[in-house]
Amino acid sequence: MKPPTAELHAKALLVHDRLCAAYGCPIPYFHDFDPLSELVSSLLSHRTRNSDSGKAFRQLRARFPEWVQVRDAPVGEVEEAISPATWPEQKAPRIQAVLHEITARRGGELSLDFLGTLAVTEAREWLESITGVGPKTSAAVLLFSRLRMPALPVDSHHHRVAQRLALIPANVAVGPAHRLLEAQLPQDWNAQQVYDNHEALMLHGQRCCFYQSPACHRCPVLDLCPYGQRRVATSSPADLTLL
Ligand code: SF4
Repeated sequence: MKPPTAELHAKALLVHDRLCAAYGCPIPYFHDFDPLSELVSSLLSHRTRNSDSGKAFRQLRARFPEWVQVRDAPVGEVEEAISPATWPEQKAPRIQAVLHEITARRGGELSLDFLGTLAVTEAREWLESITGVGPKTSAAVLLFSRLRMPALPVDSHHHRVAQRLALIPANVAVGPAHRLLEAQLPQDWNAQQVYDNHEALMLHGQRCCFYQSPACHRCPVLDLCPYGQRRVATSSPADLTLL
């Protein structure tokens, strides 16, 4: 991968500063889980509303206080406990398989706390070698858990905003976008700064840069955004009131 140009690096920082000013950095962390709990939470959250995956996680913890109990339970009981999440019949065996795989690879220990002793790139590689764990999940486990390691997750909102701002090419999918966007941030940023970057771009996607009809007229980065400028330039005066 080629390193980002100085121009792109400067633009990424300008976007970060403007969106941080708009959304109030530093942004408080929403979780303080150990990394294994964060991984299970992340697996539950796939294509599920936060409120539903949160309920599924709480129900699972209430029924099985230890992760070894989840690993060794009859799969139907795990499926029942996580029923508020989407596709519990797929997620229950998936979670158990991941817990078994970690146990086997860690010589019988069921914990991911050791990741805190590794460099971020090594920790991500370890996590991404688990079947079905991709860059978003690996970054979420390291950044959102109490490990607080500076790894950048990219969700669909973050991805859409980055594409429209031309921080990444329009044809780059979410997976490969992780490395490109992370490379644009200063290497010495701490976890809070990386977290703020992710949260600010995600919040911008949720609150202003909507999938349909982004609110470009009130966007603090309109002057940096080719997509928004094209949209404003090609809108009729009547449309402009709706932008
Ligand atoms: S100008 Fe419009 S398209 Fe560009 S980031 Fe802002 S809201 Fe999104």
